[in-house]
Amino acid sequence: MKIKKYHKKFLKKLSKNVWKTKTLFPEDGYYGDFGGIYSPEVLIPALEELEKNYKKFLKDKTSIHELFYYYKNFCGRPSLLTKAERLSKEWNAEIYLKREDLNHTGSHKINNATGQVLLAKKMGKKRVIAETGAGQHGVATATAAAKLGLECTIYMGEEDVRRQNLNVYRMKLLGAEVVPVTSGNKTLKDATNEAMRDWAKTVEYTHYVIGSVIGPHPFPAIVRDFQSIIGWEAKKQFYQATKRLPDFVVACVGGGSNAIGIFHSFLVDYEVRLLGAEAGGISNQPGMNSASIEFGEVGYFHGTKSLFIQNSEGQIQNVHSISAGLDYPGVGPEHAYLHQIGRVEYFSVRDKEALDAFVEVSQIEGIIPALETAHALYLAKQEIRNYKKKPYILVCLSGRGDKDVAEVNRILQNQNL
Ligand SMILES: *Cc1c(COP(=O)(O)O)cnc(C)c1O
Repeated sequence: MKIKKYHKKFLKKLSKNVWKTKTLFPEDGYYGDFGGIYSPEVLIPALEELEKNYKKFLKDKTSIHELFYYYKNFCGRPSLLTKAERLSKEWNAEIYLKREDLNHTGSHKINNATGQVLLAKKMGKKRVIAETGAGQHGVATATAAAKLGLECTIYMGEEDVRRQNLNVYRMKLLGAEVVPVTSGNKTLKDATNEAMRDWAKTVEYTHYVIGSVIGPHPFPAIVRDFQSIIGWEAKKQFYQATKRLPDFVVACVGGGSNAIGIFHSFLVDYEVRLLGAEAGGISNQPGMNSASIEFGEVGYFHGTKSLFIQNSEGQIQNVHSISAGLDYPGVGPEHAYLHQIGRVEYFSVRDKEALDAFVEVSQIEGIIPALETAHALYLAKQEIRNYKKKPYILVCLSGRGDKDVAEVNRILQNQNL
């Protein structure tokens, strides 16, 4: 798809390195037709306060200095870029992995959690809250809150509390309060509603740490900025290793934060293809996947206009993925835009395919990837086949798979019966 001049102009501004421009972009929160603020009236003052303070944070040398101090000394950044030597031979490509799995707590989520908890502290807030599904974002937020000395409350659907007992204990160990949510079907969607309700009442002393590039403006921009460090590091590391740019970059897409994070530094390098892997689940039927770009429609949910999986009445549907981190019925507004203008190509990868990549990469490369990440790895393998000459590729290894080992063991054992 040829990108229109008008959009190229916007992409040029969008792709600037925020740690150099020190400016919130887009100022109005719109990515083409998507984004904006579609929140209840009670949350508007909180969002305005957040926007004002985030702009101040970006301009404040001490704050940025501290952020990079914590990136280095707490998160473990810069994360490595490693060549996947055996996988490269096996799949016939030059494959480089951006190792977000080596971060503290094991995924990219800590980049955003640390950034937002620091921002909250700078805003003079005493407390942070967050929603969590499987518990990954909850654990990252509780970890950052412990480090920076803020109180922490995590909202989690009662069903998820039951399924993810170990993560619940982890959060409690880190000093957080975990509130089981009993409304709706007692999962992530309901936990998010409850967290928003809390925030509306307690905004004076509380910041709401959203876990992906979703929600009302300025959240998608803030989360993207904190994750964009992935791409800025990776671009430099890739060039140092290969003296060139990748032919394509691949990342998995749930809400879309690790993908936006790695894509951002490449947005205007038009010779670099950007590929997003969505969760294709079990089938194309509604409720059997969570590929919001492939199967979603334009709608309004959790404060933003984007693509969501919904029924004909606009009701948000239950979704499915083998990986809890991709199990969200929507995608961030910036992704909806990048899809619409044709800058990023999105494909869905089925549970079974992700599982294959999970096992193959573990055995060939000695890295157990998160099940989320396995979607990106499978897409990379498929895409390589379309190249005559060995392509150079960059994969965002968003997290480690230790958390998934028990579940995979259970699934594979059942298959053998
Ligand atoms: C949460 C998670 C994801 C999905 O979230 P995004 O916001 O789409 O990045 C992907 N990978 C891992 C390891 C995760 O924990």
